[in-house]
Amino acid sequence: MNMNDQKDLDLSALFIGDKAENGDYFKKVMSDLIDEHVGWRKNYFPKDKAMITPEEQSSESFIKTQNHMKDVLAEVSRRLRDKSVPWHSAGRYWGHMNSETLMPAVLAYTYAMLWNGNNVAYESSPATSEMEEEVGEEFAKLMSYKEGWGHIVADGSLANLEGLWYARNIKSLPFALKEVVPESVSGKDEWELLNMTTAEIMDLVAANGDKIEEIKNASARSGRNLNKLGKWLIPRTKHYSWLKAADIIGIGLDQVVAVDVDDHYRMDINALEKTIRELTDKQIPILGVVGVVGSTEEGAVDSIDKIVELRNKLQKENIYFYLHVDAAYGGYGRAIFLDEDNNFIPYDKLEEEFNKYNVFTEKGNHIKEEVYNAYKAVEEAESVTIDPHKMGYIPYSAGGIAIKDIRMRDVISYFATYVFEKGADIPALLGAYILEGSKAGATAAAVWAAHQTLPLNISGYGKLIGASIEGSQRYYNFLQGQTFDVDGRTFEIHPLTSPDFNMVDYVVKEQGNDNLVAMNELNHDFYNKASYVDGNLYSKGYIVSHTDFAQDDYGDSPLNYVKSLGFSEDEWRKAGKVTIIRASVMSPYMNDKENFKYFTSSIHDAIQEYLEDIVK
Ligand SMILES: *Cc1c(COP(=O)(O)O)cnc(C)c1O
Repeated sequence: MNMNDQKDLDLSALFIGDKAENGDYFKKVMSDLIDEHVGWRKNYFPKDKAMITPEEQSSESFIKTQNHMKDVLAEVSRRLRDKSVPWHSAGRYWGHMNSETLMPAVLAYTYAMLWNGNNVAYESSPATSEMEEEVGEEFAKLMSYKEGWGHIVADGSLANLEGLWYARNIKSLPFALKEVVPESVSGKDEWELLNMTTAEIMDLVAANGDKIEEIKNASARSGRNLNKLGKWLIPRTKHYSWLKAADIIGIGLDQVVAVDVDDHYRMDINALEKTIRELTDKQIPILGVVGVVGSTEEGAVDSIDKIVELRNKLQKENIYFYLHVDAAYGGYGRAIFLDEDNNFIPYDKLEEEFNKYNVFTEKGNHIKEEVYNAYKAVEEAESVTIDPHKMGYIPYSAGGIAIKDIRMRDVISYFATYVFEKGADIPALLGAYILEGSKAGATAAAVWAAHQTLPLNISGYGKLIGASIEGSQRYYNFLQGQTFDVDGRTFEIHPLTSPDFNMVDYVVKEQGNDNLVAMNELNHDFYNKASYVDGNLYSKGYIVSHTDFAQDDYGDSPLNYVKSLGFSEDEWRKAGKVTIIRASVMSPYMNDKENFKYFTSSIHDAIQEYLEDIVK
């Protein structure tokens, strides 16, 4: 069976639905799957004696225990119904990277959970281990890695940690080679050792495969040379997982350097070059650079192509750095650029392909060329973080990582002989090649089922991502220029930037106010009103999330925006931050003009109501 022959994917069929429109279908499939699991149990040595007898099942203690369990579950249900965030809402939840999850993923997860596979090793989960192996290959293909590999990780934070683990060990390998097989790097001075390319290093390690254990033992994992490896450069928009990673991986926070971002909140490439040159002029090497595809607070897409270009230029000057792309958030977005044969669609053919697959409901320039170029260049990075539990619309906990060169695995691997048989094949040994140990097979089933239903190209995920991007553009256009009259005072909405991806940030500002602290307070109060903080969540017609752009993290990057709102630089210094309302537009329904229009009036009314409450 070719499961990927779906040309005309209907997104509406893939979710339970805002009003559980597909609820009956969901129940029917779930119930059929449960029947199959029950049957599987019965059919395993069917003649074996049953351990639980009908007599026991009718005993007083049995019934009492069962009833108690039911009460406990009723309480679980009560708590969940009472205090859950209505992410499934088609047009009322405009906050974190959360929405309805894909029905195939929910069904596969729940079903596979009944088998409780542990993907740490093939022997405890043959079915789901194979699914994870396929998913890993799909991640690699999504990044256009020809010799790549990938696997599921608990989350993006751990995938980032693993990325830094790769970078650290690889950067240290030339020293290890010098120790174990000095002739392999003869004639290279310390600076040259520190600036070898990853490809060169992997070739040398492969050429000395018989000494791999000794080489690994002399790598940074030994603790040797840890302080020589240089700086880890990340944009100011960094996710805080990078700080944790630098801490745990042992390079230390002192080696982490934040690079300024431009007015689009993308890494400023001039600032990057300047930082690199200042460091290398002092003979301080660059361990690596992180480019972010979909920053957590702005959805900004760093110009990966320009980072790669800079790397190529510097390489001629004997400077090389490892490149990791943190696409925890935006990674699935690459699917919109791949045709059904996994070719990256040329920019001038995009529109035609979008039309062919009905990716957008209306014509228009939905993808910025800079963003396109950035996504294309991801294939040049050594490793990429991608979170299925964000733009993959898959239930938690599902992160992922892809690496460009499958041989890189060998530089972080461990073989615990009691679990793994050394020399056996992947996926037999997954746990030997990754940071984690035991891991849910159910997650692999969920991601696998989603990828089978929506291929990672324009015909599948591309369409879902497109719906999300178009929804964010509608939302951005709607917010721009909105004003609200409250007791004769006028409040305006000012979006931060037009979205690179699907996130829209904005502030609410009172007309005439030139006090930034006051505006921050207003936005904070607004967030409280539009969230669980202040009042019953289920009575909120519009729910948002918020963030602070603080000078400590962002430097002066927000200054131009703050000035454009009419605040002086003094105000910026005094306030030290700007409080932002933030929405990742993941709803798969807001691309439709009529659907969007339906919800805009409730959003408008809710904002009016929140502002009236605040002013009171
Ligand atoms: C969400 C995110 C992470 C961390 O992912 P988790 O799955 O929450 O651990 C890392 N980097 C970026 C850019 C993110 O948006």
